[in-house]
Amino acid sequence: MADSIFKDALVRLQKYGESANVSQDVINSLMHPLAMMKSTLPVRMDDGSTEYFTGYRCRYNNALGPTKGGIRYHPDVCMAEIQALALWMTIKCAVVGLPYGGGKGGVIVDPKHLSPLELERLSRAYVRAMADFIGPQTDIPAPDVYTNARIMGWMMDEYEAIKRVKAPDVITGKPIRLGGSLGRDDATGRGAYLCILQLSKKMQLVPEKTTVAVQGFGNGGYHVARLLHDAGYKIVAISDSKGGIYSPDGFDVESIYEEKQRSRVIRAVYCDQSVCEIVAHDGISNEDLLSLDVDILIPAALEGVINKNNAVSVKAKYIVEVANGPILSSADPIIEENGILVIPDVLANSGGVTVSYFEWVQNRQGLTWTLNEIHERLEKIIVDAFNAVWNLSQEREFSLRNAAYAVAIERIGEAVEAHGTRDYFNN
Ligand code: NAD
Repeated sequence: MADSIFKDALVRLQKYGESANVSQDVINSLMHPLAMMKSTLPVRMDDGSTEYFTGYRCRYNNALGPTKGGIRYHPDVCMAEIQALALWMTIKCAVVGLPYGGGKGGVIVDPKHLSPLELERLSRAYVRAMADFIGPQTDIPAPDVYTNARIMGWMMDEYEAIKRVKAPDVITGKPIRLGGSLGRDDATGRGAYLCILQLSKKMQLVPEKTTVAVQGFGNGGYHVARLLHDAGYKIVAISDSKGGIYSPDGFDVESIYEEKQRSRVIRAVYCDQSVCEIVAHDGISNEDLLSLDVDILIPAALEGVINKNNAVSVKAKYIVEVANGPILSSADPIIEENGILVIPDVLANSGGVTVSYFEWVQNRQGLTWTLNEIHERLEKIIVDAFNAVWNLSQEREFSLRNAAYAVAIERIGEAVEAHGTRDYFNN
C-alpha cells in the first residue's frame, strides 16, 4: 500500500488541480518532488555491533517558502510514503497561509526495539546524513509518528555541533527550554478541535448529543479527544495499535490517558484522583471502530485505513482526518455518495504545522510568546482557513477536500506566476 500512496496523492492533486483556477504549468510544477535524499545511517548498538538504518528526506515544493515537515520513525517508511506526506505538507501549509513549502522525512525503524541511547544515536546519525539538506531557511523538520520533543532536541543539538552555530530555528517541536514553543504539544489536536467547533456551528451540532470515535490515541488523537470531551462531546470509542474500547455512554478521556501512561494499554477506566475503576464497555477492533454508528469519526493513526473495500461500511456523518491520508482516493466517491462530510487532513491537522511556524518565528526573532498568544493566533489562522475552505466549497459546489486543494493550489499558483508565466514570456 505504501508504494501506491504517492500515486494516490498525485491522482487527487491532478483531479483537484484541474478544478482550480490555475494553468497546467502550476499543476505540473506540483507533480514533481523538488529534491530527495536517501541515506544509510550506521548506528552503534548497545552490544557494540553496528546496524544500518535507511533514512529519507524529501523537499517537495518551495514555491511559498522553505520546506517544512515532520520526521517519522516507523518500520513501513519508504520513499513513496515520504513523498506523499511531503506533497500533503505543501498543500497544508498553503491552505493555512504559512510562508512554507512542504517536506517530510523518515527512518525505517521500529523505535520500540531500540534502547533510549540507540534512539539518540540514530537521531544524531539522521542529522549527520541530512545536515546539508535541511536548514533554517531551506527545510525545517518537526516530529511525526513515533518521534517527539526529546528527539527534536537531539537533532537540533547535532545540527548545531556540525554547523558550529546556535540554530534553534532548524527544527520545531523541541523541548521548551531548547527553544520549543508553548502550545506545540496539543497544537494538532487543538487545530482539529477548532475545525470541529466551526463544523458544529455550521451544522448546528449540540456537543452533548454528538458522539465521537477516535482511532489512534497518540499526540493527535489524545488531544482532540480531550478537548472535545472537555467541551461536552461524547467520546464513545478510542483505540491504539493494540485495539480499542467502546461504550455508548462515553468515556472520561483523561482517565484513559493516565491509565495508558501507567500501563501502556488502553483500558476503559474512570479515575477519581488515583483510584481507577473499570467501566462498562466492549472491546473493539480498529477495523470495527471505523464502522461505528457515530456522528464524528476521527482517524488519528496511519494513512489508508479507509479504502474502497471498507468505505461502504462507514456510518459516521462526519470524518475529521487528524491522520495524514487516512482515506484513499478510491474511497472518495463512496464517501461522497453516502453523504459523509469530510474535513480533510490538509485542514484538520494543520494546527501542528501552524504552531511549528510560531516556534520558528519566535526562534528567529529571539521572542517567547505566551500560551494565550499562541492559542489566539492559532484560532485565528484555523478559523480563517476553515471559512475560506467552507465558503469556496459552497460557492463552487466542491467537497471540502476539493475546496481545500483549490485554495492551496491557487495560492501556490500565484507564487509560480509571480516568477513569470507562459503568457509573460511569449509576449
Ligand atoms: P503518535 O506516534 O503520537 O501516535 C500514533 C497513535 O496511533 C498511537 O496511539 C498508536 O498506538 C496508534 N496506532 C499506530 N498504528 C495503529 C493502527 N494500525 N491502528 C490504530 N492505531 C494505531 O502519532 P501522532 O503524532 O499522533 O500522529 C498520528 C497521525 O497524525 C499521523 O498520520 C501523523 O502524520 C498525523 N499528524 C500528526 C501531527 C503531529 O503534530 N503530531 C501533525 C499532523 C499530522
